[in-house]
Amino acid sequence: MFIGKQKMHINGKWIGKTKNFDDHDPATGKVIARFPVGDEDDVDEAVFAAHKALDAWSKTPPPTRAHMILKVSMMLKADKERLGRLVSAEMGKVLPEALGDVQEAIDMLEYFSGEGRRLLGNTTTSELRSKFCMTVRRPVGVMGLITPWNFPFAIPAWKLGAALVCGNTVVLKPSSDTPLCAYEMVRLFEKAGLPPGVLNLVTGPASSVGEAMVKHPEIDGISFTGSKATGEWITKNAGLKKLGLELGGKNAIIVMDDADLELAVDGIIWGAFGTTGQRCTSASRVIADSCIKEKLVKEIVARATKLRLGSGLLKTTDVGPLINKAALEKTEKYVRIGQDEGAKLLCGGKRGPGKGFFFQPTVFDSVQKEMRIAREEIFGPVLSVLEFDELDEAIDIANSVEYGLSSSIYTKDVNNAFRAIEGIESGITYVNSSTIGAEVHLPFGGVKGTGHTREAGILGIDEFSHVKSVYVDYSGKLQRAQIDDYSK
Ligand code: NDP
Repeated sequence: MFIGKQKMHINGKWIGKTKNFDDHDPATGKVIARFPVGDEDDVDEAVFAAHKALDAWSKTPPPTRAHMILKVSMMLKADKERLGRLVSAEMGKVLPEALGDVQEAIDMLEYFSGEGRRLLGNTTTSELRSKFCMTVRRPVGVMGLITPWNFPFAIPAWKLGAALVCGNTVVLKPSSDTPLCAYEMVRLFEKAGLPPGVLNLVTGPASSVGEAMVKHPEIDGISFTGSKATGEWITKNAGLKKLGLELGGKNAIIVMDDADLELAVDGIIWGAFGTTGQRCTSASRVIADSCIKEKLVKEIVARATKLRLGSGLLKTTDVGPLINKAALEKTEKYVRIGQDEGAKLLCGGKRGPGKGFFFQPTVFDSVQKEMRIAREEIFGPVLSVLEFDELDEAIDIANSVEYGLSSSIYTKDVNNAFRAIEGIESGITYVNSSTIGAEVHLPFGGVKGTGHTREAGILGIDEFSHVKSVYVDYSGKLQRAQIDDYSK
């Protein structure tokens, strides 16, 4: 499949460039499309267009804005099968997960379209007489959205749905590994009737497009999902922009001695090797009670070694490729690090066959919490197993990393479950299911090194709006808060 040379979208026009970069299928290494190498001038033009469009768009009634978002959700639904195959071809995930990626975009846009008739503020009391107090939501302004490759439809949809319904205009820079999915999404928004300049797409490398957006004085907010290192760079360079950062995880599954082990193994295999371990919520650590660890590990290894590598488009594939050569080399490097640190490699640890970026599902036993494979985000199909005797110790191990996104506990004891919910430092805790599987109407995000942003759910609106406090004094005289005393 070669789709050909594609264009960027600025001020309602599709713009090509002489310099283009290749967009690859990670399962075959073949080029599937070419995209313009955008630069600082393109970012400038896109920001200028977004500014020009802001006044009219922010004054468009929210239900009208929402209607366009709903239209995109419906168009995605109608074209789900084709788009799912495109996700699989461009990003590598297996087709059922790729269809899930598109479904998440459908759900998220549907959810945020409902905000067009809410965007709620609060009304409250006043300490003074004849005074009315309330809060209203205002758009941030021009938002720069910088998105990763692991959910090429869902993540842009999370950000676009909330940003547009709140009345912001947008410059979108997708990952250079998955520009095609972003391009398809922008085409649908254009088809839904979005006015020129409201949504601009600039493709190209982080070093020119991404950095120019972060530093651009006319961009009011940046919403970013990606690595912690990039998140830190953005924090240092964005000035006083409103920032939303979602920076990954090192998520743990605690398995108690009373757990349903079969259920736990299902969750562990899905959490560790689904999406080839490339979700920010992937389970990269299992913390197992010493009484059941041996039995659990035996079952995990038996299941992991049966997983079949291949193109995500084939029905016979369980685990697709990693996104690119750098990801493959990074995963390989961490296997070497794990072995050097003294962890026991139980299965996997090697590249898969063929030209694609395949890596075998890998399990390490005898991992200590101080080891790098237990602390650093690998973003590949590598699972570390650690051991504990008391639940407090398991919670302490779960918390011993700098990230705090997702977590899980398998137990039949409600007391254990609530101790874990209370004790684990993370934005999400699952009980008796894996670390992945967020639903669109609940807030998503983390604590500590994951960043503190909440996207999705009702709190997702906070990332893309300002809350303005409004005081209406209808007393007809000067009233002074904290000074006039009505109690006497
Ligand atoms: P990055 O953080 O490098 O990239 C994510 C997005 O940010 C891409 O669009 C990228 O552009 C852009 N970007 C990179 N650097 C800058 C910058 N200085 N200023 C502005 N934009 C920038 O992640 P990678 O894709 O390189 O993946 C590396 C690691 O990041 C993974 O191994 C994983 O650990 C983590 N990650 C976490 C994700 C999550 O869901 N939290 C998602 C993806 C990655 P471009 O593609 O052009 O480089």
